[in-house]
Amino acid sequence: MKRLVFVFSKYRPFLCSFLRSMASSSETTFPHFATDAIHVGQEPEQWSSYAVVPVISLSTTFKQDGPANLHAGFEYSRSGNPTRNVFEKCIAACEGGKHGLATSSGLAATVLLTHLLKSGDHIVSVNDVYGGTNRYYTSIASKFNIQTSFVDCTNLDTFRASIKENTKMVWLETPTNPTLKVIDIKAISAIAHERKDILVVVDNTFLSPYFQRPLELGADVVMHSVTKYINGHSDVVMGVIVTNDDELCVRMRYLQNALGPVPSPFDCFLANRGLKTLHLRMKEHERNATAMATFLEGNPNVQEVFYPGLASHPQHEVAKRQCKGFGGMVAFRIKGDLSNAKKFLSSLKIFTLAESLGGFESLVEIPSIMTHASVSEQERKMLGITDTLIRLSVGLEERDDLIGDLDQALKASSV
Ligand SMILES: *Cc1c(COP(=O)(O)O)cnc(C)c1O
Repeated sequence: MKRLVFVFSKYRPFLCSFLRSMASSSETTFPHFATDAIHVGQEPEQWSSYAVVPVISLSTTFKQDGPANLHAGFEYSRSGNPTRNVFEKCIAACEGGKHGLATSSGLAATVLLTHLLKSGDHIVSVNDVYGGTNRYYTSIASKFNIQTSFVDCTNLDTFRASIKENTKMVWLETPTNPTLKVIDIKAISAIAHERKDILVVVDNTFLSPYFQRPLELGADVVMHSVTKYINGHSDVVMGVIVTNDDELCVRMRYLQNALGPVPSPFDCFLANRGLKTLHLRMKEHERNATAMATFLEGNPNVQEVFYPGLASHPQHEVAKRQCKGFGGMVAFRIKGDLSNAKKFLSSLKIFTLAESLGGFESLVEIPSIMTHASVSEQERKMLGITDTLIRLSVGLEERDDLIGDLDQALKASSV
């Protein structure tokens, strides 16, 4: 391999990306998710100390065997880092993908992916998309002449009709945020792939790879806000991109280095540690969320409940078909108006009023004035993001304590 590097040194820029992508592709995977999450990329033999827990490699630069002759594939920590490599291999395996690319935040992953496009290209995005993604496409990418149509992707005819000649990317998020609509990834990918030049990206943040694996359903790329369930402890802001496509990986490795949105080795260490218990946490998040959704559905102070696991959910059948589970996010409409919603929030004792989601702790928010305040009023109205819509990120506390908390706060805020 070293000889190869020497022989092809004049192709160094290409070869470096290629070697790095190979170094980050998962070589050995296991039959089941939990074993992948715990072992892939974690081989003690990669460290001179045989450390069982990965080393936090803080060095920004790496000694070379000769000029442009890399010892272990690393040269500078923006272009590749051993601790980052461990996390990238592990999460790739968990998504059923070959290549993982970590980024400094979920939004940094979105920006990196959008740099695969050029001025004049068009994106079709699900309309109920994460507020920050909406803001990036509406206010920033648009300045570089990349236009985005926000479309109801639960309707396949509407989706098909929204594809234009210059469409180059389809951006899906499912379940959507905050109304938890479920998009049929397989059906959308099949329509998009009638054209060879359209990339299908799925933001898989809400379900995590434990419950949903979009690459197996036909998507080209999966991205995550690692900040949420994957890290799971509300102490890291980070993102990741996973794909099976070698050529696409080389282009994204180039962008990861050329744009520079990379996470710190310490954050990679923490995210890798969080990933070890993802399967256990997701099962418990789901049990608790199911209990909350069922309780809320039967409560006289609640107008409507949104949870893909409920038989009353409009896309419950699609969710059952494409997901292994329904996740830990629940939304509901409280009876009354904004004042009742605010009273409910201030009466809660366990659920913390805060943005974000996916951590061990239960959180609550009002999307219309918090996470989705940057979405226009008209659009919010269309999406059903009213002032009485409340979003729960159901954590890992004892189920009965959480139900008790919702119950007393609903009583305190009833109309
Ligand atoms: C939080 C979030 C993002 C953005 O990720 P950051 O890590 O906050 O940059 C993107 N998509 C979804 C669904 C999210 O919840």
